[in-house]
Amino acid sequence: MRALLTGGAGFVGSHLADSLLDRGISIDVLDDLSTGSIENIQHLKGRAGFRYVIDTVMNERLTAELIDQADVVFHLAAAVGVKLIVEAPVRTIETNVHGTEVVLKQASKKRKLVVIFSTSEVYGKSASVPFREDADLVLGATSMHRWAYACSKAIDEFLALAYWKERKQPVIVVRLFNTVGSRQTGRYGMVVPNFVQQALTGAPLTVYGDGRQSRCFGYVGDVVNALIRLVHEPRAVGQVFNIGNPEEISMLDLAKRVKALTASTSEIVLVPYDQAYEAGFEDMPRRVPDIGKIRALVGFEPTVKLDEILLRVIADMRSSILAQRV
Ligand code: UDP
Repeated sequence: MRALLTGGAGFVGSHLADSLLDRGISIDVLDDLSTGSIENIQHLKGRAGFRYVIDTVMNERLTAELIDQADVVFHLAAAVGVKLIVEAPVRTIETNVHGTEVVLKQASKKRKLVVIFSTSEVYGKSASVPFREDADLVLGATSMHRWAYACSKAIDEFLALAYWKERKQPVIVVRLFNTVGSRQTGRYGMVVPNFVQQALTGAPLTVYGDGRQSRCFGYVGDVVNALIRLVHEPRAVGQVFNIGNPEEISMLDLAKRVKALTASTSEIVLVPYDQAYEAGFEDMPRRVPDIGKIRALVGFEPTVKLDEILLRVIADMRSSILAQRV
């Protein structure tokens, strides 16, 4: 069996690559390294069944060729991270929409199963917490660039479900909630690697807004297990699934936990949203997954709790900071 991972040099993709190879599944990684990193897949070079190509999913001929050789496609290639989206909205929209068009069009020629990676961001400002897959999406004005990400991913979902309905192209849509673990970079503004890096380097921990907004953090290893269960379940085809961990924490409490677990002397500072992102930036106050659907279908249950996740991220970041100093 061979799997194609677009965006396989990214944070989630590289963990999925590890797990598939461990299970004896050959993989092709297609990544343009725009937000992914060759370091994430360095350890896989030379491993039996592993191949990679540095190119974009928008290269339709190459993508078609790789899909042709694959049995299943995990389409992770996308512009991610709220900071990047606010700073580079054109790239976000084009990459997320056109990349998915190419993958679905090519996969549908031979009806190869495609897993489309969407995001909890699509729930937008909805207050119906916890979020169920069939709930309404509540997005803000088009002048707020943050919503371009949710909207581009929602279009991907519509397109995937349309391919399934109209052309019997098998698809599974997954909405990943905040996913964390080793190899995640703070470069694109994600809160956990940011806080851990700040705590370990003695910089202030930057809590945006009043810090009362909350998130739920899922461990990347649990997310990968969920994905593997889903692709082995024929009844998952044509459906949308939340993947995450319902354990909720406010950003102020998260900063305090990181500070305590690292024994850091860094101070915690509040940074207004318009300084952190852009004027008028809208955050979502709570984002909690309802994982009843995936639990019922494939028995998914998150296994790694927040403190343990943070300890793993801290250990990983400590060693990469040390490696940079050597
Ligand atoms: N955040 C923060 N400090 C940071 C980075 C992010 O307080 O240095 C907040 C951000 O405003 C949001 C939450 O942490 O409320 C999660 O942000 P992230 O970018 O990790 O993911 P999001 O849930 O926004 O997609």
